[in-house]
Amino acid sequence: MTHEPIELHSWAGGGPVGGDGAGGWIERVNPAWTAEVVGRVSAVDAAGADAAMRAAHGAFGPWAAMAADERRELLLAAADAVAATAGELGPLLARELGKVVADCKGEMGFAAAYMRHAVGAVGRVGATTDIDDAQGRLRVIRRPFGVCVAIVAWNAPLILAILKVAPALATGNTIVVKPSPLAPLAATRALTTIAGLLPPGVLSVVHGDAEVGETLVGHGLVRKVAFTGGGTVAKLVAATAARQVTPVVLELGGNDAAIVLDDTPLTDEMMERFVWGTFLTSGQVCMAAKRLFVHTSRAAEFLDGYLAAAQRVLVVGDPLDPAVTMGPMASAQQKGFVESLVADAVAGGATAHTLGTVADGIDLGTGWYVRPTFVTGTADDAAIVVEEQFGPTVPLLTFDDVDDVVARVNADELGLASSVWSADEDRAFAVAERIEAGFTFVNCHNRAGMSLRAPFGGWKRSGYGREFGDAGVAEYLQSHAIHAPAAMRLGEHAPAEQVGANDYPT
Ligand code: NAD
Repeated sequence: MTHEPIELHSWAGGGPVGGDGAGGWIERVNPAWTAEVVGRVSAVDAAGADAAMRAAHGAFGPWAAMAADERRELLLAAADAVAATAGELGPLLARELGKVVADCKGEMGFAAAYMRHAVGAVGRVGATTDIDDAQGRLRVIRRPFGVCVAIVAWNAPLILAILKVAPALATGNTIVVKPSPLAPLAATRALTTIAGLLPPGVLSVVHGDAEVGETLVGHGLVRKVAFTGGGTVAKLVAATAARQVTPVVLELGGNDAAIVLDDTPLTDEMMERFVWGTFLTSGQVCMAAKRLFVHTSRAAEFLDGYLAAAQRVLVVGDPLDPAVTMGPMASAQQKGFVESLVADAVAGGATAHTLGTVADGIDLGTGWYVRPTFVTGTADDAAIVVEEQFGPTVPLLTFDDVDDVVARVNADELGLASSVWSADEDRAFAVAERIEAGFTFVNCHNRAGMSLRAPFGGWKRSGYGREFGDAGVAEYLQSHAIHAPAAMRLGEHAPAEQVGANDYPT
């Protein structure tokens, strides 16, 4: 079926911006049929980025001062509105990103759920605390920062944006979002649906290249930056933000290890968990399992079980086909990178096992398809083990000793997520505690193991700051302590004995 290309606009201060004569256009083709243009969105130039920041600045005071109940009602209505876009935007997202349509529709449902979660968490993390006791009177209030900037990756464009937009707005900040040029369309539609229900300037969405991103991050009015993407750009963002001491949340890549202990039941259902743990969204997920460490005594059984499970559940093809479970990759560059990792591993003596099936009638040459592969016979220092593949290939490694595997897992510079698999949950938790990562799943890996209430984020080079949980909402509040020490109180609170004005605090 042919579709007419759609045309959307960057949105700032309550109206469309960018495009002809002011930033140009970003065009997106369908990764499954690269001859098809899905649509284009207007980009902004430096002046447009500045206008969005000024609009957000102007909107901040009234938005922060709005009665909590009123702000809450607006955001809950916006959550309902974004959930209602799933039927229309799911297929659009599938066509611009190559992700299977059911998962794309799920993004809108998740966005609504996360908005409701963030609104609900404000009462817990934003509450004022008061103490009046023998040490004195202490009040700690929590206040929004002001104008926030969100810069996000493409693999879950609405989810990655909403993980910043929802907590920022729920706590009284305003925000300017820059989506990725690789998935600009559905995110723009969804975010402008939300923006249209809020006062102008509270939420803006601007598109552009690295220069626009730098303009936003380095803008004089920015008070907080949240970034999801790769380590190379993260360093630029952090360096730009540091020039004005702007706080930053960095959600970066992972090279997640899955540790499969010797007592893990390798049933058909469990093996399907491993397949989805690695290959959801064609492996293009930050917290996908990217290194599988299996106890040597179970390795042969694991390999057979994995190949069989993949044969049952992985169907490569057009993401709009409901029978398809794996679409193409999002870009020619990603495809080339993953294929080079597999070729390098094979040249080094490894074996690549092609996985799954191809949907009837699909010509994989029409798009950026990569057949999923499972790679055995690699060493820990092979590129396919050391690099974040971010695509449909994964290496199998073996271990004999838990101390040894924990050391090998922790040798990686990245520390986003991880998993431990065992019939004995206590044993799994004990091993999990030794892993240097911000999250460890037990007997699952990837999206199936996430929870709105569990804080998520990286250790080491995988970033800092948290999303999800109360911590992900607290990121958008700063504390302000108001303190009258007992020894300094006046009037009826005055201490019985005067103490030195510069004594150390207790
Ligand atoms: P990227 O770093 O190339 O781009 C991220 C965003 O930064 C895009 O919007 C891009 O346009 C923008 N950008 C590029 N240069 C910029 C600059 N100089 N200043 C400001 N912004 C700039 O990453 P990507 O390829 O879009 O995403 C893939 C990476 O994201 C992977 O490493 C993946 O693991 C990671 N990721 C992490 C999480 C997480 O929650 N930790 C989630 C999803 C993806």
